[in-house]
Amino acid sequence: MAQDVLCEVMNCVYNQHGKKCGASEIFVVSHKGNKASNSEETDCKTFEPGV
Ligand code: SF4
Repeated sequence: MAQDVLCEVMNCVYNQHGKKCGASEIFVVSHKGNKASNSEETDCKTFEPGV
């Protein structure tokens, strides 16, 4: 289990100082069904736009 989720998406409401995710859990999805060939084919579905 991940102890820290590092994330640079500063405009997500869960982001802490452009460095870490503060959500209690995140949902990572694949662009290609339930498999992926590389990291570019994955994304964080928990993202919520903030200020
Ligand atoms: S929810 Fe996703 S996009 Fe938002 S801070 Fe966490 S890892 Fe980053």
